[in-house]
Amino acid sequence: MKYITVIGTGYVGLVSGAGLSDFGNRVICVDIIKKKIDLLNKNKIPIYEPGLDEIVHRNTKANRLSFTTDLGKSIRESEVIFIAVGTPQSASGQADISAVKTVAKLIGENLQNKKIICTKSTVPIGTGKLVSEIINDNKPPDGEFAYVSNPEFLREGSAIKDFLWPDRVVIGAESDWAFEMMQDVYRPLYLNETPIIHTTIETAELIKYASNAFLALKISYINEISSLCEAVGADVNIVAKAMGKDGRISPKFLHAGPGYGGSCFPKDTQALAFLAEKININVRTVKAAIETNNYQKKRMITKLQKLTGNFSGLTIGILGLAFKPQTDDVRESAALEMVGALVKEGANVKAYDPEANSAFAEYFPQITYCQSWKETVKDTDAVAIMTEWNEFRTIDTDILKKLMKSPKILDTRNILSRKELQNHGFSFDNVGRPLK
Ligand code: NAD
Repeated sequence: MKYITVIGTGYVGLVSGAGLSDFGNRVICVDIIKKKIDLLNKNKIPIYEPGLDEIVHRNTKANRLSFTTDLGKSIRESEVIFIAVGTPQSASGQADISAVKTVAKLIGENLQNKKIICTKSTVPIGTGKLVSEIINDNKPPDGEFAYVSNPEFLREGSAIKDFLWPDRVVIGAESDWAFEMMQDVYRPLYLNETPIIHTTIETAELIKYASNAFLALKISYINEISSLCEAVGADVNIVAKAMGKDGRISPKFLHAGPGYGGSCFPKDTQALAFLAEKININVRTVKAAIETNNYQKKRMITKLQKLTGNFSGLTIGILGLAFKPQTDDVRESAALEMVGALVKEGANVKAYDPEANSAFAEYFPQITYCQSWKETVKDTDAVAIMTEWNEFRTIDTDILKKLMKSPKILDTRNILSRKELQNHGFSFDNVGRPLK
């Protein structure tokens, strides 16, 4: 059992804090947003992540998990400090690590005894060295620390499962003491023989970017194949299914759609390309994945335009705003680009997401938010499905047609039955599948 502080109580910090406490550690989660901490202290979860409420409540009740804004005190009371603050994309494409640097200074100022300082945020290669320098410049003479890089691979929507039963844990640590401390932090995983990869700090930092960029590349690849399918009359779903049966390929991350979004793939591919360019390495495949993804998002807008003509004055329903189902995260979601184009061209937009309406409203307060798919599609000139929530998979085509003003639908997630749409006389399009 270790005494742990997790700094940053977002999607990664809160899940990691809850998961680490579930492993038997004593964990304090810290954030600068007081509203978030107040909610957590009232047993409320500030984000939507399936299963998170249960694991948080279980561990707070057992006094293993607590929440505070008092960073200094929690640092002083802990043996292992995890940094899990955001590292968003800056204007240049580079990862903005200013929050990591701020936190590193505070850690230095509050360092007592010997501690592990561990970065879980996704940070550019070389950040470990920089964080160590900042801590060294600010720490009292008797403060000691070992730096560890422990990138996180969880996916929003299945984050609890991913954290508690990961495929692997990567630990970049340059001393045996630091590695053994981290093994203790992850003791239940170590005991059940989850692969724990001990490597250098730089290798650990690169593993995270290399993994995310590879998955982004896989999605862009199938999205590019979807264009080809449309041109030759092939079915991308069947192509992907058959490809995925090959053990070397795997069916995961092989679903054609409107282009990847979320808080990781877009920014991490950009950050990797930026980082590589700075040292004169041309990461052609990564740059191609980025370009293909931007194109795929635009291609969806063109598809809708082909169905409706000019958007001006039309009422368009958008089903799904989150970048994927089972999350309320809308960062870089394909719906943002679609709604942006619709608003710009003067359409009236009605939108609905089971969990992400309020997050989306921060970007587009001017559109109409609905509480069900039926309310959304009512009296619309066209509808676009942008996220494959289960409740959209079971949309009754008969009711859909009766509610809409004009039966036109763009299914960017290939979840509706083409036969049903044809039988009901819809004009429709999807991604990479023949329309007849
Ligand atoms: P997030 O934006 O949801 O959360 C970051 C949190 O850090 C926020 O609550 C913010 O208030 C807090 N914070 C910022 N500065 C702080 C400070 N000085 N002190 C205390 N708290 C501070 O971000 P996230 O999605 O959880 O991602 C965190 C990191 O993990 C990023 O580097 C991201 O790339 C990486 N990551 C994210 C995912 C994911 O699926 N979201 C998966 C793996 C890795």
